[in-house]
Amino acid sequence: MKIDNYNFAGKKAIVRVDFNVPLDENGHVTDDTRIRGALPTLKKILADGGSLIIMSHMGKPKGKVNPKFSLSQIKEDVAKALGTDVIFADDCAKAADKAAALKPGEVLLLENLRFYPEEEGKPVGIDKEDPAYDEAKKAMKVAQKEFAKTLASYADVYVNDAFGTAHRKHASTAVIADYFKPEDKMLGYLMEKEVQAVDNILSDIKRPFTAIMGGSKVSTKIGIIENLMDKVDNLILCGGMTYTFAKAMGGNIGESICESDKLDLALDIMQKAKDKGVNLVLGTDCVAGDAFSNDAHTQICSVKEIPAGWEGMDAGPESCKAFTAAILPAKTILWNGPAGVFEFDNFTGGSRAIADAIVKATKDGAFSLVGGGDSVACVNKFGLADEVSYVSTGGGALLEAIEGKILPGIAAVKE
Ligand code: AMP
Repeated sequence: MKIDNYNFAGKKAIVRVDFNVPLDENGHVTDDTRIRGALPTLKKILADGGSLIIMSHMGKPKGKVNPKFSLSQIKEDVAKALGTDVIFADDCAKAADKAAALKPGEVLLLENLRFYPEEEGKPVGIDKEDPAYDEAKKAMKVAQKEFAKTLASYADVYVNDAFGTAHRKHASTAVIADYFKPEDKMLGYLMEKEVQAVDNILSDIKRPFTAIMGGSKVSTKIGIIENLMDKVDNLILCGGMTYTFAKAMGGNIGESICESDKLDLALDIMQKAKDKGVNLVLGTDCVAGDAFSNDAHTQICSVKEIPAGWEGMDAGPESCKAFTAAILPAKTILWNGPAGVFEFDNFTGGSRAIADAIVKATKDGAFSLVGGGDSVACVNKFGLADEVSYVSTGGGALLEAIEGKILPGIAAVKE
């Protein structure tokens, strides 16, 4: 079912959102992006004349009640964002009465789902090596179904709008969907947008397609790099992984970050790119620092000739030029991972050059998707989030989707 085609009038809707928002030490929300992200879905349900049961996780309480992660801390923020009062259920598994009493237009916020280990469905307090682990896991799966059934019993319709957890088969993100008829379960608007954005990258590709993968390590990105290799025209690999490639090619990389056990993998990626006709763009020069600090002395050098005691911290001017040249003509762009240690203001140049080129290409008609934790922080730091086509809210979920994996949270409502 599509949310736009559903009339929520008189219905109770249980909506899985991602309200895992950052809080300061006094429990105040420091960034409400995720709350705002869910508003189109929540408001549509209320505007139709439905009532809302909102559920989310926050942090990693590991199956135990922990006031530090209580969603009661964000109740007023949710109320303010929705422009209506919010009732709070301080036990998400014992909220049947409160849910039953909801009238159209009313909102119930459930306490953190992860106060129950059943949400994640992983046995707690038992080691994977323990001979009793398999039995405990089986028992937990049964308990997880019961927990999901309880949550489902509160409502007539289920909406999943939590892209950030869509790659997890948790009670509230996937298992719960079994208890609703196909016509009474659906993705929310935010999820629909995310799915569409990934589809633009994976299926509906306008060429040339340039992917920019940065960040610290090759090993965490290899699945995506391999999947993208069949799809992209230009593949820019930058950031910390530059130095694994430079070393693999026989360069001296000083103290730069490097995965020495991935040198063969780096050479293999280079060969695959050649075989598949992908234009692989690797950094050739870098801004090296004599310490891992914003105040380090710097020099520009070839990535293959970094002096001892120095480390590559950002892309150099020649690299930035090559990155820009591969981005500007693109009609589809994916960016994941910074080109340098962008957290230090003196090492943002490479990431800035990439961001500027993406903004320009987007103005010229490209579809640009920026996603995965640090690159989002990067475009936010530069104040450019509104100038790319789409900034994904998903970290792991986005990366798994791009790797071509089926996300359980999406599959569950599409069955
Ligand atoms: P990831 O989580 O793998 O996307 O990596 C993001 C992190 O990579 C950021 O915290 C960056 O500071 C870091 N990073 C990018 N370039 C470098 C570099 N040349 N040396 C060390 N860390 C880097």
